[in-house]
Amino acid sequence: MPEGLEAEIWRRSLERLVGSRITDVWADERSADSGTSAMLPGSLITGVERLGKVVLIATDGPTLGLHFGMTGRVEVYGVGPIDQLEYASGRDLAEWDRLRVWVDDASTSDPPALRLNDPRRLGRVSIDPDLTHLGVDVFAIDPLSMQQATQSRRSPIKAVLLDQSAIAGLGNLCADEVLWWSGIAPQRPANSLTDTEQAALVAAIRQRMPIMLRRGGSTMGVLSPDVRSAAGPCQLDGVVLERSKVGGRTAVWCPGHQH
Ligand SMILES: [Zn+2]
Repeated sequence: MPEGLEAEIWRRSLERLVGSRITDVWADERSADSGTSAMLPGSLITGVERLGKVVLIATDGPTLGLHFGMTGRVEVYGVGPIDQLEYASGRDLAEWDRLRVWVDDASTSDPPALRLNDPRRLGRVSIDPDLTHLGVDVFAIDPLSMQQATQSRRSPIKAVLLDQSAIAGLGNLCADEVLWWSGIAPQRPANSLTDTEQAALVAAIRQRMPIMLRRGGSTMGVLSPDVRSAAGPCQLDGVVLERSKVGGRTAVWCPGHQH
C-alpha cells in the first residue's frame, strides 16, 4: 500500500502543476468530499505539500487532499511515477478513477494533468482536510519526537510506528524495515525502548527513508516484498526470518539480531 515514500514521490511529480490554474475537475462522489468538482475550477495551484501519507495540493482557493488508502495511485499527464504497488494488481481501469483534474496548460482532453486511480476505493479526496490528528512527519522525526511517541505507549513498537497519530508516513513495509535496521523486535512494548534503542530507531528512519525514496519507494528495502513472501535467511546474520502478527499486521523480522 502507498506509504509516505510513495506520497512523496507523487508530491514531487505533481510539483510541475504549481502555477497552473485548474480548469476542470471530475470527482467520483463516493470517494470525494461533496462539492469537490464545483469548488476547484478557477483556482491557481500554489504549492504541493505532504504530511505523512497525505498529499496536499494548495491553491488560492481550497486545499485538495489526496488520501491513497490501500491501492490509490497517481498519474501526472498520463504517466505514473510509480507503476507497481504492493497488493495492487498492476491493472488500471478508467472506472477506478476517483479524481481527474485538468489545468490551463493542457487541453481538456485526456490525459488529465492529475488522475487518481484507486481500485479498492479506500482512499479519499478531501477539501481543506483537517490533519491535526497526525503526528510528526516521518521525514522530520528527531529524538524528542520519538521519545514523545514511545514513552507513554505500551503497545508494540511496530504498532506505534504504524499509528499515524504518533508518526505520520510509515506503513507496514517501512516500519519493518527500520526495525530490522535498528535491531529492535517489532513486538517490544514501545515504552520499553532504551534511549540507545530510540536513537537507533531515529537513525534508521533518517538514513533508510531517503535511500528507499531514491530507489523508488517502500518496496525497495532489505525486506522487499519478495524477501517477505519467501521469509528466507536474514541478510545480516543468516537466521531465518519470522512472520508474526503484530498490531493486526504481518511483521517480518529477524529473531537473530532484533531483540
Ligand atoms: Zn538478522
